[in-house]
This record gives sequence, structure tokens and C-alpha cells, in this order.
Amino acid sequence: MTQHAPLSSRITQINGGGSDGWDHFRRARAMKESGAPVIELTIGEHDIRTAAPILQDMHRAAKAGHTGYADIPGIPILRETVARRMAENTGVPTTPDNILITPGGQFGLFAAHLAACDEGDRALYIDPYYATYPGTIRSVGAVPVPVQAKPEFGFQPQIRDLEAAVEGARSLMINSPNNPTGAVYSPATMDGIAGLCQAHDLWLISDEVYDTQVWDGEHITPRALPGMLERTLVVGSLSKSHAMTGSRIGWVCGPEPVIACLEDLTTHSTYGLPGYIQEAAVFALNQGPAFEADIADPFKRRRQITMELLAGQNAVKASPSQGAMYALLDIRATGLSGEDYAARLLDDELIAVMPGESFGAAAAGHVRVAFTIEDAVFRDAMTRLLAHAGALST
Ligand code: PLP
Repeated sequence: MTQHAPLSSRITQINGGGSDGWDHFRRARAMKESGAPVIELTIGEHDIRTAAPILQDMHRAAKAGHTGYADIPGIPILRETVARRMAENTGVPTTPDNILITPGGQFGLFAAHLAACDEGDRALYIDPYYATYPGTIRSVGAVPVPVQAKPEFGFQPQIRDLEAAVEGARSLMINSPNNPTGAVYSPATMDGIAGLCQAHDLWLISDEVYDTQVWDGEHITPRALPGMLERTLVVGSLSKSHAMTGSRIGWVCGPEPVIACLEDLTTHSTYGLPGYIQEAAVFALNQGPAFEADIADPFKRRRQITMELLAGQNAVKASPSQGAMYALLDIRATGLSGEDYAARLLDDELIAVMPGESFGAAAAGHVRVAFTIEDAVFRDAMTRLLAHAGALST
């Protein structure tokens, strides 16, 4: 085999060198592909596809010839529409110059960290976390520093734990409503985080991709809190709110000078997004809050099913489950780790869930269930999961 020229240490270290914790997911997938009737409660993606009218609008825009290079920071009408939605939802005046359109929330998280952190800077994030977080931080050359949000506090981060890690940090990334815990940060948590960021001159990178999926409590964007406008970068996306995961359309909302710098980044990286997808995004956003509630409704129903079934037993404890399309179930009464329990459940019941450990140390002894399959199948799978965990706990 020919030896390739040496790679940069930054590119080879993106996933930190360890296992990415998704071995279990791949085993379940392989079993399913070889014919086993595995029920997957693993994936954070809707069981419906993008609505036909949105696709028709995409088709219309493409047929109208909007297939060339589009404005690099996003087409003006989309930046305006996102700014208006942001202003309406949060009460914070927002203009198109506060908005950069990105290929999904994921690129927004990357861009926000590139804006906030220099090589070698400490970048804080909350554990349990969405699987890409540490790698996103490493990919900009910064050092990921997890701060645990513990089950005994309903997975709300505690300010004293953040204080203990903050020395030398440049940024803090939060995610409410949260994947994987389902926590929605309380006003007290958000106030504490805002105070910490101001006291230590941090950028707050607020991942709000689940902002339309709140079942209990209220979504607070920290950008609206006193003193936070100039140090908050909000990352949003149409993936979850409009079932448009594959269209790769999201944004960063922040102070104008930051967005101007990020425009330079896009000029030298993505060179913008397809105009016909951006036009379809305008169409999707103009459907308004009732459409967004319809897209979220199946998750609301399945979350309700989960709460009802949990109330009828003692073995598995409820996680906060206040928002997003997941419940993190505490299976510590079985005496097994999340990884071992997920493996047992797959072997015994052909039900695939994600081990909590794949989302960080604070989710040990838990498994994450995604509300992403049809109600009746979901109810049956949850009933079997709880009976299985109950049998192991006695
Ligand atoms: N942030 C969180 C917490 C997520 O769960 C996801 C996707 O699952 C993303 C960001 C990325 O979403 P997208 O890039 O599709 O907008």
C-alpha cells in the first residue's frame, strides 16, 4: 500500500481517538439489515418526510432557474424571515445582518466556535451532550471541556460546577431543549449561565435546534437576557422544526460584526447554499407556528405515552422529558450500565436504544429512547422495555 503524505493533527484528532460510542447502534443496524425485526428507538429523525408543499416550492424555485450561486451569507429574504421569526419569538430586535444562513445547525456550531475560540482555547460544553460536540470543538483547534449536568439536578447544569471549570475558557455551549436528556433549562439555570458568561467574558453558544419541541416549561433564549445580546451566538435549524434534516438549512444569529466575520468564513468554505433550498426554507418558515406545532405533535404524543407507561411501574425512573424528541431513562435499578442494558435489550427483545454513556459520563446508567416511530409500535416497544427492565430489577 502506498504511504500517503502526513495528515494534520487537527484532522486526525477530530473524534478524540476513542470509540465514538456508536458501536451498539451499528450492531442493531446490522441485525436489522440481516432480517431481524429490530425496533429502532435510536435515531433523532422524524418518521415523516419533508411536507410535499415545501418540496413543491423547492421544485418551483429550481425550475425558475435559481440553481446558480446564491448570496453567500444567505439570500436576503431568508435572512429577513429568520430575523423576523427570531424577533417575534424572543422579543429581541433582530435584523438580517444578525443572521448567517448555514448548511444545518451543525455547521452553525462549527462556525460559532471558530468565531469564539483560538487554537488551544478551552471551550466548555455540558455533559450529557449531542454526540458531535467535542469533535466540533476539536475541529476548530480548541480544547473541549465537559461540565457534568447530573441526574439528581434534573440534568440542569449547576453554576458551581461551571465555575470550577471556567478558568481560561473562551466559550460555553448549551443546548435547551436538550438532546439527549429532554431537559429544558429553567429561568434560574439560564440566569446563572448568563451571569457566569458576563463575569468571565465568555461567548455563549446556544444550540436551540429543538426550540419548537417544549412539552413542559418554557423555552428561554439566553440572547434575550440582560447583558447577553453581545456575547450570545444562537444556532438554529429547520431540521427538527420543519422535518427538513436532509435539506441542510440552519443559521447563526449574533452581533453584526460576528456575522460579518462568519460571512468571510463561508466565502472561503461552503460558498453559500443552494438558492432553491433557501427559497423553500422561506416558504416553510412562512407556514407559521401552527405548522411547526403539527410537525412536533407526534413527539408530544409519544412523550405522553412514555410518561403514562412510566407512571405504572417502579423500575425505570423518568428523566425530565420536558422537551425534544427523546427521553433519557434511568435504568440503574437493573444493576447494569447503560451499555450493558442496551445490549441485553437488543438481544432479548430486539429493541434498539442508545446507551447513555455514548452521550457522556453524566448519562451513565441511562438509555436514550427516541420518539421517532409510529405511536402503536412505540407504545408496544416501551411496554416491553419497561417489563424487561422490571424483570432485571427484581
Ligand atoms: N444540535 C443538536 C442538539 C442535535 O441533536 C442536532 C441533530 O441531531 C444538531 C444540532 C444538528 O442538526 P442539523 O445540523 O441537522 O441542523
